[in-house]
This record gives sequence, C-alpha cells and structure tokens, in this order.
Amino acid sequence: MTFIESLTILIGLSYIISLLFWSGKRWGAGIAAATLIAAIIIANSMVMFTAAAIAIPILALLNYRYKQRPFNAKINTCRSVCQHLLCLSLFIVAIQYCINTIMMKMALTPIVTRPDVVDAFLPIAGGISLRAIVEQGYFDPHHPAAAVMLGVVLLTGLLCKRAFCGWACPLGLLGEYLYKLRTRFISKEYRPPNWLDWPLRAIKYLLLFALLYIVMGMPTQGLVGYLQSPYNKIADIKMAMLFVAPGLITLAGFAIILMLAAWRKQGFCRYICPYGALLGLLSFLSPLKIRRDCSHCLIESKGMKCDKCTRACPAGIIVHTKTTVRSDECQACLRCVAACPSKAALGLRLKNGYQLNPQGLIALLLILLLALPLISYLFGFWDSQTPWQMREYLLHNIHRIGM
Ligand code: SF4
Ligand code: SF4
Repeated sequence: MTFIESLTILIGLSYIISLLFWSGKRWGAGIAAATLIAAIIIANSMVMFTAAAIAIPILALLNYRYKQRPFNAKINTCRSVCQHLLCLSLFIVAIQYCINTIMMKMALTPIVTRPDVVDAFLPIAGGISLRAIVEQGYFDPHHPAAAVMLGVVLLTGLLCKRAFCGWACPLGLLGEYLYKLRTRFISKEYRPPNWLDWPLRAIKYLLLFALLYIVMGMPTQGLVGYLQSPYNKIADIKMAMLFVAPGLITLAGFAIILMLAAWRKQGFCRYICPYGALLGLLSFLSPLKIRRDCSHCLIESKGMKCDKCTRACPAGIIVHTKTTVRSDECQACLRCVAACPSKAALGLRLKNGYQLNPQGLIALLLILLLALPLISYLFGFWDSQTPWQMREYLLHNIHRIGM
C-alpha cells in the first residue's frame, strides 16, 4: 500500500473516531482507536507508520475544531469537504501512477510504487475477479484491489443508496464544476421533457447491461485463464491509454460526457454512468431512504405552501409530495434535508423512523470505502503481485496484447 493510500485511509478512519468521540460515544471511539492502532501494528509497514504520524496530528486538529464549533447540520459543507478530499487523494494517486508508468515506458526503475487503488477503475476485471472468487475460489493476484473496490462500491449501494455518487465520486464533482462553469456563461436551464428524459436515462442501463454481459458471459472455466492473461496483467495501462492516446470514438465519447455534465446537474450520472445505473438498481434494496414525516412537514402540519426540498434536489425528484423517495436517481446527497425549514420533517431514515444524520452517513461511507481496503491489505489481498519488470515488458509490447 502506498503512502497516499495509507494516509487517506488513516485520516478518514481517524475522522470517524473523532466523530464518535465528540458525539459522546467514548467507548465506541476507544474501541475504534484501539482497532486502528492494532491494524497499523499488524501491517508493520514503515509507510503506514509514517502516514499514522501525519494523520494523528490532523486528527488532533479535527478534534479541536470539532470541539470549538460543534457540527450543526452543515450538510452541504460536510459533503463538499468529503468529496474534495477524496478527489485530492485520487489526484495525487493519478500523478504517482503516471510517474510509475512513464518511468517503466522509459525503461527506468520506477522511483515510486504503483498505487493499487487505481484498480478501482477496472470494473470488468473486478467483476470477473469476484466471479472467480465465488465460483472457483481463485483470488486474482494481479489486480486484487479491483475486486475489493467493486465489492465496496456495491455494498455502499446496498446500504446507503447512491451515497457513493453524491459524496465520493470524483467524476460527480467534476460534473458539478462543469455545470457551474456553463451556468456562468449560459444561465438558462435546459431540462428535457419527460418523454425524452426517460429514454435518455435508459442509456446508462444499456451500458450497464453491456458490461454485465461481458462479465457474466464469460464461461466459468475461462475466468482464471483471463485473469492470468497478459491483457489482464496490464488492463490498467490499457485503460490509461484511452486517456493518453484516445482514438476518434473515445474522443467523441469524452465530448458527449463533458457536454452532458455541463448541460444539466448530474447529467453524466443521470444518463451515461453505468456505475450509477448499478448503484441505482441496488439502491432499491437499501433500507435507508429519504423519508418525509408529514406531521412535521409545513404542508400538512401548518397548511403552508412549501417545495424547498424539491427545488434543492439536483436529481429533479419531486420530494415534497412523497413520504418516501424511492427513485434510483437519489444520491443521498441530503441537499433536500439541508434546505428543509422544518428540521424534523425530512431525513435519511429507516422505515421505523431511525434517522441517520450526516455524520452517521459519512462514517458509514468512510468505513466501507476505507476500512474494507485496509482489512484486505492486512489479509494480503490488496497489493498487486505482478512484478514491475513484467509490467515493463508487457508495456513495451502493449500493441501486441489483445483480449
Ligand atoms: S431526494 Fe434529496 S438526497 Fe435524494 S438526490 Fe434529491 S436532494 Fe439529494
Ligand atoms: S422542505 Fe420540508 S417543510 Fe417544505 S415541503 Fe419539503 S419536507 Fe415539507
């Protein structure tokens, strides 16, 4: 595990301990801190010790700030900080990955190691790897993090709807910036009519089914062969080549994605992203949903006109007339909750009324996104076992390697 991966994990998990501590769950914080320290000791890695030495003072600072300014439902700030920090971490990871690959391309010994979290961008390898684990008990040694991260993202969908899209996805954040940039020059909203919106939303499901066809269509006997193939060993570099040397079709695809993101809020997530489609389907199973308590909503309790929640929703969901938001487009972003003037009216709740506050949602998301990779690492299923010399050899022969 690289330094930036370790630092991201340790800061995120330390933040959860901080939340537990200052919300009065001292025992929970103590147990979580002891578990984290045990994990660092078990890992016995200089990189992780160094990351801990940096993360712990940051944790102390967070504790201090939290004590000084108690969290008071600053939901949008909270989400924005979470998105930007994860995005910054991925940006540093991308730079490290590029340096590693460029040095191999120049036949030099890489001065930095390859960050394995980049395998999160290999959903097909991850899907095939998960199948190989379930059907054949075979663990892919080349991109183990692909299976881990795919499993983690699927779990987030099952437990907390599309919170991954709303709180963690770097592409979602990029889309937000593109949309804001566009509205600075052209302020008009261009929303398609319903008869066009529905078929456009179906595109992401078609892309998802195409990916599922590739993953599920492979015969069981072929799974291990694929995972051991030269193509799989450098699948990440093949993916990176799409960005470094895109063909005409790839460029056209990128242009469509950028235009959709700029056209409307969450345009890319809504129409194209197959991950969003998968999480949208899983989100129907999530016990947590945005639920409106009519006895506190200003419409029913005071007979007032109010649709602030609906107007705040970037996914265009009509919230103020529903008691439960079941839409596959809901990203659990909690913007509707932040906009609601009656604080008890709206929340991310279980059917029995238990409400997960924003801190709870962040904690759940970070546990899934960071603790599971840490556990995988401790069990030896995170770092790629492909020697860099082999990657270098395959990289120099990349044009002869096909699926
Ligand atoms: S319904 Fe609420 S939580 Fe869901 S996408 Fe809309 S604003 Fe976000
Ligand atoms: S913003 Fe709150 S009070 Fe207003 S309609 Fe929505 S749930 Fe009811």
